[in-house]
Amino acid sequence: MPDQTAPNAGAIDLHTHSSVSDGTETPDEVVRSAARAELAALALTDHDTTAGWASATQAAHDVGITLIPGMELSTRLEHASVHVLSYLFDPADAALAAEIETIRDARLKRAESIVARIGRDYDLTWGDVVAQTSEGATVGRPHIADALVAKGLAETRSQAFQGILHWRAGYFQPHYAPTPLDGVKLVVAAGGVPVLAHPGTNGRSGVVSEARLRLLVDAGLFGLEIGHRQNTPDGKERLYELAAKFGLAITGSSDYHGAGKPNRLGENSTSPEVLEQIIARATGWSPVYGAEVSGSSPAYPADGAEARTV
Ligand code: AMP
Ligand code: FE
Ligand code: FE
Ligand code: ZN
Repeated sequence: MPDQTAPNAGAIDLHTHSSVSDGTETPDEVVRSAARAELAALALTDHDTTAGWASATQAAHDVGITLIPGMELSTRLEHASVHVLSYLFDPADAALAAEIETIRDARLKRAESIVARIGRDYDLTWGDVVAQTSEGATVGRPHIADALVAKGLAETRSQAFQGILHWRAGYFQPHYAPTPLDGVKLVVAAGGVPVLAHPGTNGRSGVVSEARLRLLVDAGLFGLEIGHRQNTPDGKERLYELAAKFGLAITGSSDYHGAGKPNRLGENSTSPEVLEQIIARATGWSPVYGAEVSGSSPAYPADGAEARTV
């Protein structure tokens, strides 16, 4: 039995970020934080990279928590950024690996370009941003935000996003990303399970159209992340209607970024049944099963999870 002194004990949190993208904790620390919060399971879903899988896997073995290796794939529909949570795909799949490398390169060039623009008006250099970024990490606006905070040009990450990094401030630039449909197809072809991340942040009218969603479902979309603090109440209402209509699974997760966002581990949770369906559907990778807390049962199942190393 989980110790109910931890407020979110027993939660299944399928959306977290580490310092290999824009979280503030290393993958190892995220897994340890999840164990401390007494979560039943977590997924590590860094933006456009699987670089955290190996150390998160080691940490999950060490602390005995179930880990679902994953990723949050950047896609783009016209001007809108659409994130696709992707679980248990094969990280060596050539097409997906090539695409995320392309996205990471595009993100890097775009960040340099945003910083050059900001640098015309403020005392900010690319070096300031590099100083806030772990080696090899997927670069995003949060790293620029951290540099702005370090330079005293913003109070917090969130305040930087509301100010200099807001598109209205005139420095924003988009980056290349595949369409959501191509993204879903790539994840499915790599044996993974795709779920639309926070699809209701722009309210009911901002939710993906039924026609577009039908194409994603036909391509293998598994679910909608309805439990997310940024989905609005009427956005969620619409998403529940669409999930029922298309038979999509519903997930809930925190989108934890360590100290980079107020989101706390386990503040939203996914049902064990939905997690089981994700695991059953995936053919690209296996979960890392946490050690049994008591008893003498083996820590890992005999399904090959242990044999696959990252
Ligand atoms: P990018 O992908 O570079 O455009 O940056 C988007 C990322 O910034 C998202 O993944 C969020 O994690 C983060 N982000 C967006 N808005 C905020 C905010 N208000 N405070 C902190 N982080 C934010
Ligand atoms: Fe992020
Ligand atoms: Fe996201
Ligand atoms: Zn996220």
